[in-house]
Amino acid sequence: MPYVADTIAHLNRTSPAQHEFYQACEEVLLSLRPLLDNDPKYRKYGIIDRIVEPERQIMFRVAWVDDRGQVQVNKGYRVQFNSALGPYKGGIRFHPSVNAGIIKFLGFEQIFKNALTGLAIGGGKGGSNFDPKGKSEQEIMRFCQAFMNELYRHVGATVDVPAGDIGVGAREIGYMYGQYKKLTGSYEGVLTGKGLKWGGSLGRKEATGYGTVYFADNMLRDIGESLEGKQCAVSGAGNVAIYTVEKLYHFGAKPITVSDSSGFVHDPAGIDLELLKQVKEVERTSLAEYAKRRGGVRFVPVSDYPAGRNLVWSVPCDAAFPSATQNELNGEDAKELLKNGCTLVAEGANMPSTQEAVEAFLAANILYGPGKAANAGGVATSQLEMAQNASMQQWTFEEVDSKLQRIMAGIYQSASETAREFGAERNLVLGANIAGFRKVADAMIEQGVV
Ligand code: GLU
Repeated sequence: MPYVADTIAHLNRTSPAQHEFYQACEEVLLSLRPLLDNDPKYRKYGIIDRIVEPERQIMFRVAWVDDRGQVQVNKGYRVQFNSALGPYKGGIRFHPSVNAGIIKFLGFEQIFKNALTGLAIGGGKGGSNFDPKGKSEQEIMRFCQAFMNELYRHVGATVDVPAGDIGVGAREIGYMYGQYKKLTGSYEGVLTGKGLKWGGSLGRKEATGYGTVYFADNMLRDIGESLEGKQCAVSGAGNVAIYTVEKLYHFGAKPITVSDSSGFVHDPAGIDLELLKQVKEVERTSLAEYAKRRGGVRFVPVSDYPAGRNLVWSVPCDAAFPSATQNELNGEDAKELLKNGCTLVAEGANMPSTQEAVEAFLAANILYGPGKAANAGGVATSQLEMAQNASMQQWTFEEVDSKLQRIMAGIYQSASETAREFGAERNLVLGANIAGFRKVADAMIEQGVV
């Protein structure tokens, strides 16, 4: 497969030290082999070379003043990766680990994820190395305003529509929206994940977690099984994890773990959802606090994790829902999950499994839903928010949720049918990558070399 090695070598030369980006590209490119072997048009029109190169990358300085009166400077990014199918769409991440390579990998994944939803949205991503942890409310507001002071000139309701991601929720979207409005004088759907009183969509907050569980349900129903009674290991304790836990309960499953940067909780009786929401959404504190208040649960601090392992995956479970961050589940973790009898993995996070872990899941032929298919419910519901804003309507929760269920079923169908079409039954990595790529690539060909 020289095109894979050649492309990755080219990216190494031209975009040095962007390892997560190479990883995301390699996974997609390897999956495309059966398609490229069958259809010469994608090479003829230079689609591979074009699709790995963002249409535009914006990097900017974010200067703000902290509560002590000190000037702070962070890096700001927006990668407008591909607009073949619609305006750029994708979240904004505030986390100290953010750099150009992370934002590029996320933007690249977003292209195919968004295509899979069947909706008219292109791929983009943004963020900053700003660390919201320990910052006051005022500092968060000033940072969000400073971030928007540059971003506003690059976005717009039909141009580029950011949303939340790690470290960016309704509060941050609110501050950014307020500043966008102040700067432009325009009340438009330029961001999604907005507050319900000012243009947000019912069901958007829950959508990524709910969607991941709907996706898992689709995988299981296809083989005549269900989530009922399944012990589920969930990682993360943010928006995706919380609403994964909530929806698992609706399906009669039992979520038994959650994790954050302080450690993980194993709660054999089932995670106490109300307490989890109180600790993480209201008090914004650590899971150690959950363990203290709940009592009778095991809390394992990260300082006890052996090097290179994420111990949340050592808890025996029937199904795993990685919902924290990229590369949080490696080959060793995957082996342990499989050894303990896990037969389903549905990714709520973006690229949580390393390449070795993905290979282990595929080799074991378990039900494996890669992030770009399984977690697409969030961005899909963002598009539903855009549709409501454009038509000046607000749909009911039930309306949004039933559309979300249909979209997740459609994504599953399209990934599994595509896998079958290329003789790789059950390989949803291949199915999702080819199905997403084909849509984007065909649109790029029809729109000419631009
Ligand atoms: N950050 C989410 C994702 O990774 C949502 C993006 C959006 O709603 O635009 O898909």
